[in-house]
Amino acid sequence: MHFVKSKSKIMNKLIFLFALLILFACGQKPQQTESVPVSFNMPIVDSEITKSKTKPKNVIFLVGDGMGISQITAGMYSSDKKLSLESFPVIGLHKSYASNNLITDSAAGATAFSCGVKTYNGAIGVGPDSVAVETILEKAEKKGMATGMVTTSTIVHATPASFIAHQPSRKMYEEIAADFLKTDIDFFIGGGKKFFDRRDMDDRNLYKEFQAKGYFITDYFTEDLRKVKIPMDRKFGYLTADQDPLPVAQGRTYLKFASNMAMNFLNRKSAQKGFFLMIEGAQIDWGGHANNANYIITEMLDFDRTIAQVLKFAKKDGETLVVVTADHETGGFSINKGSNRDSLVTAFTTDYHTADLIPVFAYGPGANEFAGIYENTAIFEKLKKLMGL
Ligand code: MG
Ligand code: ZN
Repeated sequence: MHFVKSKSKIMNKLIFLFALLILFACGQKPQQTESVPVSFNMPIVDSEITKSKTKPKNVIFLVGDGMGISQITAGMYSSDKKLSLESFPVIGLHKSYASNNLITDSAAGATAFSCGVKTYNGAIGVGPDSVAVETILEKAEKKGMATGMVTTSTIVHATPASFIAHQPSRKMYEEIAADFLKTDIDFFIGGGKKFFDRRDMDDRNLYKEFQAKGYFITDYFTEDLRKVKIPMDRKFGYLTADQDPLPVAQGRTYLKFASNMAMNFLNRKSAQKGFFLMIEGAQIDWGGHANNANYIITEMLDFDRTIAQVLKFAKKDGETLVVVTADHETGGFSINKGSNRDSLVTAFTTDYHTADLIPVFAYGPGANEFAGIYENTAIFEKLKKLMGL
């Protein structure tokens, strides 16, 4: 009975569709040729590159630490012009939870991206069993790609650390600094000089060890980043602060410049095999922890200006995939009643992270892979596949 009923329903539908088709075919008139030029606003980023190629040569992966939808929204309404994030052709969402907690931290969050494993909060490049898992940066390095990282936290902080180090705890800064010597990363810029040259756990001077490995390594104390000339036969490290770099609001300006320097250096370094670069806007998260909307917005806009620079490079290059996401949202940040574009009325529900779905923005060859809703670990799988690792 049930079967017959549904079968006749299908028949009815088919007849209806057939009738529609006949009506449509009869009603068609010859197409008029359009002679008036059509003008429309071109998007800042043209999606042709997204469609035309499927495999990128270079991958630039950007993490806005603690950057949820409301952080982006606040940045958007605080900006005179459109955010560069608004011009991405492909958007997805990821589930950020950790193996032991629905609320992730930046270590488990970044390890999901870098290693493709759900792990416990605090884990740096290790699985739930604390055993090291090879990172995407290490895989890229092995394949002969050039690799780099730029961040506005210390370079040994959870997010960058998870791409290069393997430690059971994010607090092991000196161990993480030493792990940098175990790879052949070509370029890194971030804070944390003291973990390299004045260590508590041992007498090692990592500057000397980097130099012995062929690095040109220097810092804020020795020379201005904007005046540094890197010899092309060397690898490069630059430490922007003794510990944490300053917030933008207190004068930090290097993220966009350093990211541009990284792209150009890595691109020249590996013209054949391409490069992998991780760029982090680390302090959006710190604004969330401080429940300070202005801190969030100034860091968000600094990060977005960097994204604009990256898109400019990618658009010109045509073989670069750009993926922008966050590890988690911080602060349970919201924009409330009474807000207008000149002043936002904001509130926070926590001084820690939340479990919100997190946006993923993609541009360039392979970008289409990033549409949909998926686990944070799927970002690793997608990148790995696209990079042929
Ligand atoms: Mg971070
Ligand atoms: Zn945080």
